[in-house]
Amino acid sequence: MTAFLECLDCPKRSELTVTQLRCRSCDGLLQIAYDHPPTAAAPRTPLAGDAAVTLGEGRTPVLSLSKTANRLGLDQLFAKLEFMAPTGSFKDRGSAVLISAAHDEGVTEFVEDSSGNAGASLSAYAAAAGMKAHVFVPASAAKGKLDQIQIFGAELHAVEGPRQAATDAAESFVAEQGLPYLSHNLSPYFSEGMKAFAYEIVASDAAEIDHIVLPVGNGSLLIGAKNGYDELIEAGAVSSTPRFHAVQAENVQPITTAINGVEWSAADARPTVASGIAVSAPPRLKQCVSAVTDSGGSAVSVEEDETLEWQRRLAAEEGIFCEATSAAAFAGLEKLLANGAIKASDNVLVPITGSGLKEPLSA
Ligand SMILES: [Zn+2]
Repeated sequence: MTAFLECLDCPKRSELTVTQLRCRSCDGLLQIAYDHPPTAAAPRTPLAGDAAVTLGEGRTPVLSLSKTANRLGLDQLFAKLEFMAPTGSFKDRGSAVLISAAHDEGVTEFVEDSSGNAGASLSAYAAAAGMKAHVFVPASAAKGKLDQIQIFGAELHAVEGPRQAATDAAESFVAEQGLPYLSHNLSPYFSEGMKAFAYEIVASDAAEIDHIVLPVGNGSLLIGAKNGYDELIEAGAVSSTPRFHAVQAENVQPITTAINGVEWSAADARPTVASGIAVSAPPRLKQCVSAVTDSGGSAVSVEEDETLEWQRRLAAEEGIFCEATSAAAFAGLEKLLANGAIKASDNVLVPITGSGLKEPLSA
């Protein structure tokens, strides 16, 4: 049983290594390919065995939200409580695979950049693995996320300016210091870890899911879920994938506009309360677009006040305190019902991707 790195843009294949982020022929981004078929029991991973570094990630609860379903006119609505992961966001499945692979390869120090949640998650797994992490984040990131990164012992590099400035600073630091760059946005190991999300839904008590509505920034959950369902189909465990619907903030909407054929450029980006999806130039944009369109899904952008209203509503009516980024998906779901992309009798699942405890409430 072997796995390879495979270029997304050319036929080049190369040996697995966690430190290679781009194709050596054409500089394209990579994915992981396997020479053995998937099974229905568990997703394939690039690891030789079980994850060497784990904090008990995965297996998050799936909950029926009857009040929200009633309010929206849906027969049934499921939420997958991703904020109940070890570091309070969905990122931990990806971190477990990425850091385990790095541990197996003898990496002791690395660089990462993040809007906050992934940096906090990778810092925790680095601590568990005894590695030193350098985490570049926007200085404007939520204090709870910055605190997490620091208490885990990572070196926090807070960078003034938009999210992209943190990526640029991380890349310069990598070039200067010669350290491995374990970018969760570029690494194929990270989204590979996310495939378990699909396996968990299929194994849950939720009925067969017709639609998954999710907030999308860099798209690791979207790409991981799509690849997970593709493996489940190949393994004969399910007959089709749900339709994936991407939700972004109107203030930062490179993916929804690409899907809907609307002009948008990174220069159009504005600040948003949905900081977890404030990614103006996602490197895997093409993969995100095809994950949505291949599934028959769609994309919507939502306004700031709609997101904040849903954050308040989920807390007050369901007892769920999520970060604003997660609430954006519910604002998106409301639009998808209004525009007919989702019907009242359809089975819908929304991942609640991050905890509200990490960020201060907006006024
Ligand atoms: Zn290539």
